[in-house]
Formats: sequence, structure tokens, C-alpha cells
Amino acid sequence: MQISSKLPNVGTTIFTVMSGLAKEHNAINLSQGFPDFGCDPKLLELVQKYMNAGFNQYAPMPGVIQLRECISKIISDCYAYNYNPDTEITVTSGATQAIYTAIAAFIHAGDEVMVFEPAYDCYVPAIELHGAKAIISQLDPLNFSINWNDVHSKINSKTKMIIINSPHNPSGAVISPNDLLELEKLVAGKNIIVLSDEVYEHMAFDGQPHQSIARNKTLAAQSILVSSFGKTVHTTGWKIGYVAAPKELMIEFRKVHQFLVFAVNHPFQLAFADFLSDPKNYSELKHFYQAKRDLFLKLTKNSKLQPLKTSGTYFQLMSYSNISQEADTDFAIRLTKEKKLATIPLSVFYTNKYDNKVLRFCFAKKDETLEQAAEIINKL
Ligand code: PMP
Ligand code: GLN
Repeated sequence: MQISSKLPNVGTTIFTVMSGLAKEHNAINLSQGFPDFGCDPKLLELVQKYMNAGFNQYAPMPGVIQLRECISKIISDCYAYNYNPDTEITVTSGATQAIYTAIAAFIHAGDEVMVFEPAYDCYVPAIELHGAKAIISQLDPLNFSINWNDVHSKINSKTKMIIINSPHNPSGAVISPNDLLELEKLVAGKNIIVLSDEVYEHMAFDGQPHQSIARNKTLAAQSILVSSFGKTVHTTGWKIGYVAAPKELMIEFRKVHQFLVFAVNHPFQLAFADFLSDPKNYSELKHFYQAKRDLFLKLTKNSKLQPLKTSGTYFQLMSYSNISQEADTDFAIRLTKEKKLATIPLSVFYTNKYDNKVLRFCFAKKDETLEQAAEIINKL
């Protein structure tokens, strides 16, 4: 049989590859982004409660209303923007499905979608699967800020969407209030949708408030906000997230959502609705992860690795140029096999595989895991 691949240049995601290598070589896994500690036992009890109570058949297609109301309240409390839970919020099977669905719903063959690189790995393949073209704007290689002159020069009548992500995976950088204003100016009066990936929204550090698209009413009117409970409550394996968008956009989003997943896991949605009605269960997260970042930096401060600035997420970039000039993918594989520490090489987040000798470390780990990792790092 002759197969004509729709993604001829795509292999298995780096997260699967590096986590597999870590397992094979019994290495400490700071590669794929997930916590090595559990969620609050209260959340597990709630899931059990709703399963035992019989909520085991299909949930409503857009999500259970209790959870949509809860999401609407969180967004309103955090960013002062009101989404109608009935018509403007949909629960999804994680952020990956939300992003894919948004692209499928709005992007036609021949369209252009602006993506900032380094970029999380699911954006470009989803764009290409719909016959559209990803137009890349490079973030600054050291502080990962947006070059707005470059963005303006690449926008044209074919541009239908801009994907932003703050706090940013893989760099840990965050956008500023001025970036939101620049974005507002850029898309004003144009048929461009902003797809805002905010899965790390509750993990912005050093007292800086998260710059959600929902803070800017004009922008929110032409944006799709995506988030994921996996990051917020330490349950990446449950794959539940959501989308908030103005009604006209949500109508189109749901047309695709209903045929991609129809509805999301029922008892877990009810459990999230109860659990997240207590603001402490998301508002403390930034302090928790800031302490992890600070511990990891303190433990590795005398190593030869040089940290870049992390203002959010649970990722820390480190340059190894003082140690080796090897390609970052080779260095990351060698580190896993020989030193038993798995990381992600930064070049995989660039279409052109730009290699600045930088690795990404996930610090969503128990303190003792970070201590063991630091012991290895300090000997490099
Ligand atoms: N966007 C970014 C920036 C991410 O880092 C991730 C997952 N780590 C996702 C989307 C996907 O989230 P989910 O696991 O909910 O699909
Ligand atoms: N988003 C996680 C990361 O950046 C991985 C998610 C996945 O494996 N698809 O590491």
C-alpha cells in the first residue's frame, strides 16, 4: 500500500522520546513537563464521589454547566472579563484538543497563521494538517520577547490567526501589558483571530500578574483563550481543559468539538467544579512553583550551566555552552544515557532547529528529585 503522509516531516514528539529514553536508562526525568508528585487527595475523593453517584454516562456536549460556571467565575475574578458560561465556554479534552479544534474550526487551506518560535510542538502540525502555512516570527534568543516590527512585516491579507503563549513553554518568559496593547493594535479591524494558549496562567512569578488576553476587552472580542487543568491541579494525565471565546466564535468551535470528542469525561468535570470553587486551589500555585524554581536555581548555582530568566511555567532553560559545543540533541541524549538525567533540547521547538546550546529542565518535581538532579548537574 502506498501511503501519502500528511505530515511527512513529523516523527514522534520529543516528550515521548525523552521520557522513553529516561525510563530505558533509569534516568531522573526532567524532560517531559509533568509533576512527579500527586494532586490533592480531596480531588481524588471528589472524582470517586461522582463516579459512585452514577455520573458515568455522557456529559453535556459543551461541558457540565457547574464547571463552565466555575471557569467563568475564575476568569472574571482573575482578569475582570465575563464570559457567558452557557454560550462562551466549552470544556475540552485538554489544551491540545482545544488548540487543534480551534485551528480546524477557523483555518482554511491557503491561510497563514503566525507562530512565535521557539513554540510548543502541537501548533505547526495542526496548521499544516489544514492546508495552511505557519509563518514564523522568532522570539529574542535570550529573553524571548516578541519582535513587533517583525510581526507587522509578516502580516498580510492571508493571515487568519496569531497563536500566542504566555507564560511560555519552553522559555518560561511572560508577555507584558505593552505586548497586549501591541497585539490589540495589530489585529484591530482585521479578520485575525488570536489563539491564546494560557495553560500556565496560574504560574506567573515574582509578583507579576498573568497577562491574559481576557484583561483586554477589545482583544478578547476576537480571541480564543485556551487553558488546561492538568497544570493547575497536578493532573496532566486527566487531559481536561477549556476554551473561552465570544459566542460567534464559540458556535463554530463547538461545530467541530462535537465531532472530535463530543463530550469530556463526566465525573472528573464535576470534581473540578467543586474543587476549583475554592480560589486557594489555584491562586497558591504561583508561590508553590516559584519556590521550586528558586530551589532549583539555588541548588545549581555553582554548576557550569548558566540559567536563563524564568518568569513563569515549570520550566527552566540552562545554557551548557561552558561545558560542550555538541549539538543540543546529542548532548541531551548523552546526558540521559551517561549521567542519568533527562532534559529537552531547545532546538526541537524551532522549525529551523536553531541550536543555541540550551536545554529545558522541568522543575515540577519533589524537592528530593531536584536535589538528586542538582548533584548530577553540579558534576558536569
Ligand atoms: N500548550 C502548552 C504550552 C503546553 O505546555 C501543553 C502541555 N504541556 C499543552 C498546550 C497541552 O496541554 P494538555 O496536556 O492539556 O493537552
Ligand atoms: N507539555 C508538556 C511539555 O512541554 C508535554 C506534553 C506532552 O507530552 N504532549 O513537556
